[in-house]
Amino acid sequence: QERLDLLKSKIGEYPNFPRDGILFKDIFTAFRDGKVCVATKHLMLNYIRKNHPSVEVVVGLDARGFLFSFMIASELEIGCVPVRKKGKLPGETTKVEYALEYGTDVFELQTDSIKAGQKVIIVDDLLATGGSLKAATELVRKAGGVVQECIVVLELQGLNGRKNLDVPVFSFIQYD
Ligand code: 5GP
Repeated sequence: QERLDLLKSKIGEYPNFPRDGILFKDIFTAFRDGKVCVATKHLMLNYIRKNHPSVEVVVGLDARGFLFSFMIASELEIGCVPVRKKGKLPGETTKVEYALEYGTDVFELQTDSIKAGQKVIIVDDLLATGGSLKAATELVRKAGGVVQECIVVLELQGLNGRKNLDVPVFSFIQYD
C-alpha cells in the first residue's frame, strides 16, 4: 500500500492534452523519482509472480508498455515481444486495425514472435477505452498465444474499457 500511495501521489496530470477536455495522466512524471521506479517494479513483479507463475511471454504495447515488458521479462527470465504501431517492425507481421477516438490505427505483431500455446500477459501503462488492449489480444491469439491477463498501471474506469475486453484486466490504480 505504501508503494501504491507513493506512485499515485507522483502521477502527473495535464489538462487539455493532447486535446481540449482530456485530462492526461502522465506516468513519466512519476518516474522522475527513482524510488517510484523501484516501487512500481516491485508492485508489478509481486503481482505477476503470485498470479502468473507459469507465464511464458510478456507482450508490451507501443510505447510505454515497453518500459514494463522488458523489466518483467528480465526479472522473470522469460521473453518479451512488442506490439507496435504500423510500419515499425521488420519481417513478416500480422496486423489488426483498432478504433481511436477519431478514426483508426493499426497495430502489428511479428508473425513468428509467439509460439502456439504459449501463455502470455500483455502490459501497458494505462487502460482508457480498451481499444489498444483489445487489438493486442487479437494479435496474440492470431499467433496462437493464450492471453492470461492484461495488466496496466492506471485505469480510467469512467471509460469502461474492460467491457471491451474478453480477458481479465488488472490495474494497480483506478480513477473515476
Ligand atoms: P485505449 O486504447 O484504452 O483507449 O487507450 C490506451 C492507450 O492510450 C494506452 O497505450 C495509453 O498509453 C494511451 N492513453 C490514453 N489516455 C491516456 C492518458 O491519459 N495518459 C497516458 N499516459 N496515456 C493515455
